[in-house]
Amino acid sequence: MIPPQEKPKVREILEAGLKKPVEVILFTQKYVCHTCIHALELLQELASLNPNIVLKVLYLEEEKELSKKLNIDKVPAILIKAPHGKYNLRFYGLPTGYEFSVLLDALIMASSSRTQLKEKSKEALRKITKNITIKVFVTPTCPYCPTASRNALMAAIENPHLLTEIIEISEYPHLAQKYNVQAVPKTVINEKIVLEGAYPEDMFIKTLASIAGVKISYIARETYDVLIIGGGGAGVTAAIYSVRRGLKTALVERKDIGGQLLEASTIENYPGLYGVMGPELAQLFKMHLLEFNVDLIYDEVMDIRKKENIFEVILKSGEVARARTVIIASGMEHRRLNIPGEKEYLGKGVSYCAVCDGALYKNKVVAVIGGGSTAVSYALYLSDICKKVYLIHRRKQFRAEDILVKQLRERSNIEILVPYVAVEIIGENSVKKLKIVNRETITEKIIDVDGVFIAIGHEPNVSFLKSIKPEFNKKGFIKVDARMRTSIEGLFAAGDITSIENQLVVACAQGAIAALTAAKYLKEKEPWSFKPIN
Ligand SMILES: Cc1cc2nc3c(=O)[nH]c(=O)nc-3n(C[C@H](O)[C@H](O)[C@H](O)COP(=O)(O)OP(=O)(O)OC[C@H]3O[C@@H](n4cnc5c(N)ncnc54)[C@H](O)[C@@H]3O)c2cc1C
Repeated sequence: MIPPQEKPKVREILEAGLKKPVEVILFTQKYVCHTCIHALELLQELASLNPNIVLKVLYLEEEKELSKKLNIDKVPAILIKAPHGKYNLRFYGLPTGYEFSVLLDALIMASSSRTQLKEKSKEALRKITKNITIKVFVTPTCPYCPTASRNALMAAIENPHLLTEIIEISEYPHLAQKYNVQAVPKTVINEKIVLEGAYPEDMFIKTLASIAGVKISYIARETYDVLIIGGGGAGVTAAIYSVRRGLKTALVERKDIGGQLLEASTIENYPGLYGVMGPELAQLFKMHLLEFNVDLIYDEVMDIRKKENIFEVILKSGEVARARTVIIASGMEHRRLNIPGEKEYLGKGVSYCAVCDGALYKNKVVAVIGGGSTAVSYALYLSDICKKVYLIHRRKQFRAEDILVKQLRERSNIEILVPYVAVEIIGENSVKKLKIVNRETITEKIIDVDGVFIAIGHEPNVSFLKSIKPEFNKKGFIKVDARMRTSIEGLFAAGDITSIENQLVVACAQGAIAALTAAKYLKEKEPWSFKPIN
């Protein structure tokens, strides 16, 4: 199960992390269960790499009493004993792909009794005395899922009242139906509260705390020197530079550190790290950031107000953070179609990430909307999983690379519909149909689909700029001067949000310039001048 070339690396990770024995139970069954055989192989290989993994294999049909006591009703079930003595860290299905690193982390954290949660989160978790069950639905190909799985596992390590179940949903179609899982990650708490997407640590812990009636705030200072919005390359670099300039720095991120890197496969043009995987680089950025005294606030900025010379940053949780300067590094996000049904069925058949959610559409019919390289790659990727894929594009020509378009035309299960525009997504509980209109003949067509993947580009994340409005360029990105100043004194912008060049190395460089200019502005109080370059 673990490729031979990966074994030395896994052995090294386990050796560094597993200082004490950790008990693992695999519940399997004697009758046909291919995933159980693979789960057994995977755990035996891990146990052979480190003697501190103490593996016990039990058969569901023979251990009726114990499985009832532990509430195990499906296999394969991997149970890890937390330091407090409960088997409350559980994986159902096979933790491979992105979830394999989560399995390794769970073993290491259970062995070391240490999690990466912030002190504030641990404090809040200690106060929870109610039993809470957290189910996180994931797929191995979803790059956002590890954030959701790790948070839930860390919470269960900290508190024995919490039971965390990581469920590889493509393995259990009945659960996908029961919990209406059509996009991952999806977290269900006590069968009631549903979190769609990768909720960041603060918001996840705040949700748990609110269920248990526990209050918590992550804002540590009355007023920050610099508050950075966004934890992509631009924001992380700005934070590192700000702290090193001696500024009291906060960084607010609504998902996880890394931004768009979390979706990128290989990055080939970032100096010194040729061919690094996007999520791997995001993790390196996070580790680097955590070396510095930055207040990392996982929340979403909803508005910014300026009162006298202080910015008030309004967060989704209702809290307000104050700062003397703000650096906007909020990057870009998937462009929406803005058609009826798109919002209603988001996570119920509408998706913007084929790699994340594609596995949920095995042998089903889906539509991909768009004509660029991303849309065409989505169609190709999905055609390997789905029964049929419609590719809908508003023009007759594709913007995608020729080689991709050639592959597209060779696939027998892809039907290309051009020049069509999507006008409505129709469903009941989940997506059922897509209404499209031919732009030449103005005739309408309704196609039966189980999912709609939208890949029509990106747009700037500026919706939180309600009360203050810096100057924007024609495309809606923030105008900056050569030193990353915006038209509003004390407000800077860096990275893709300026659309100067949408490249990682440029975003990082702009983050550094913004932080250095902010430091200068705060210390020297030089007059604000603004001559935009974009
Ligand atoms: C699939 C893919 C492949 C790529 N490949 C390459 C490549 O090979 N080489 C290269 O140089 N570049 C590549 N890029 C582009 C590169 O990833 C971006 O240029 C870079 O990530 C931009 O960094 P950023 O910090 O400006 O923004 P982002 O990475 O977009 O980060 C912005 C962050 O802000 C957060 N945020 C937004 N709004 C709020 C809010 N209201 N409150 C709190 N947080 C908020 C977001 O959650 C996000 O984490 C690729 C991009 C993609 C999508």
